[in-house]
Amino acid sequence: MNTHRSWLHAVVVVTFIMLFVSLGGCGGDAPTPIIHAQNPNIYELSAGSASFSAVAGDTTGTTFQLSLANVGKDIFFFPVQSDSQVGTTAVASVISSWLGIYGSIAPVSVLKGTLPNQEKIVLFCKLDKPVYQEATGRLNFSITYLDGSPKPVSGITVTDLILLIPDNSSTGQEEWAQLLLSSQSLQAFVGKTVLTDLSPVPESAVGLFDLDAIEKLAANDTDQLPLRLNRLMIFRSGFVRWQAVAGTSGPDYVSSIPSFQVVYPEKSVIIDPPCGEATYRKNSLGHTFQFYQDNFDRLQKTMQQADLIFSTHEHFDHIGGLAESPWLDQVLQKAVLTQEQLGSTKWIEQSGFGAKLRARLSPLKYANYHRLLPGIVLIHTPGHSVGHQMIYIKLKGGGAFLLTGDIAWNFDALRKLTGRPLLVSLSLGEDRDMTGHQIRWLHDEIVMKPERGIQVVVSHDFEMLEGFVANGLIGDGFE
Ligand SMILES: [Zn+2]
Repeated sequence: MNTHRSWLHAVVVVTFIMLFVSLGGCGGDAPTPIIHAQNPNIYELSAGSASFSAVAGDTTGTTFQLSLANVGKDIFFFPVQSDSQVGTTAVASVISSWLGIYGSIAPVSVLKGTLPNQEKIVLFCKLDKPVYQEATGRLNFSITYLDGSPKPVSGITVTDLILLIPDNSSTGQEEWAQLLLSSQSLQAFVGKTVLTDLSPVPESAVGLFDLDAIEKLAANDTDQLPLRLNRLMIFRSGFVRWQAVAGTSGPDYVSSIPSFQVVYPEKSVIIDPPCGEATYRKNSLGHTFQFYQDNFDRLQKTMQQADLIFSTHEHFDHIGGLAESPWLDQVLQKAVLTQEQLGSTKWIEQSGFGAKLRARLSPLKYANYHRLLPGIVLIHTPGHSVGHQMIYIKLKGGGAFLLTGDIAWNFDALRKLTGRPLLVSLSLGEDRDMTGHQIRWLHDEIVMKPERGIQVVVSHDFEMLEGFVANGLIGDGFE
């Protein structure tokens, strides 16, 4: 990795952290923020060239100046709700409205340009103290970042610079990251480069999990193993391709939000009961989706009769249905949530588990692996969320499944070995090092070793699930 690239990468990561920190606390002397998060605009600004230079007297190496030359008088803007409504606005008026909203700190931005060696760069920047000189077409910002190492190289020049600035006055990390996710114009801009370059998977994850130990744990009562795995489709939706698999483009993937049932001779368990329609609509950023009400009602009845209910993780599309049960007292007694899932306050509350409900559950504590029932082993895999776990299922007939939850959103990510898309990780607060290693391990130890006879099941991969149902590997609907 060359020097330019490495510090730029550091800036990318660090400026995002700064954004998260700063947006929460940028009140100060600034006027009361004008909240128009429902309909933010994205401004696109082109400059012939730009240069970064260290600030004199800065001994920490955390501050530098960004100077953009040949900035035109007008910049494009795209309302998020409708990308077709492209218009132009004067740079000066945009800058003055930022100052009105933010004080000296301008909105955080995406910056793309070409280095002297023709390498493309993409940065996420917190821009401070914008000054625009209309006569010369020069726009200056200062950029500060927190990490002192590696230090920025003074005097770097980039050409063909484009700066995207969301005019979003809402505060908090999710709003901004979700704005990126929901904007077609930002997606087109950020596109392939940032997602491919910044979403690598580690070279190796040897020994991350001990598959022999897991299989042994699962099968230590061979005569009591479960008979079948069933799936029930609760939602069908779409994933913008790059959100599911980093670095890809093209038509959306079809996405599924299923629930699973493991059937034993004398009992059954439910895995991943998704929320109902209203909760999904509230949290789905306006994505179009199909909700299967009959299946949701069926899920609720099946949960009432089930022996255990548990989840790959604490997100609403994997556990929300439990909190929405019309038979809450009964189903709570069967719920097995881990200590990490219950402790992941923000997400578990979004899934409908307020403090009172959580107090009624006793958390499951385990390290690494836990044999929940004959044939079912939980595998501790924090990363996508702190309470994430994979679920290994061994059937009596000899087949085995590994429910990988949301470590990947489509099987292609495991097949093609792409890490979680950067913006998705930032939006969800994922631990990218962990998900990267998990993806590497799943690819090397499961996908590339079909002789093991373990079928990876990616929850949100509609095509994969329907394929399993079509060939009889997984049962269609709940019993
Ligand atoms: Zn999910």
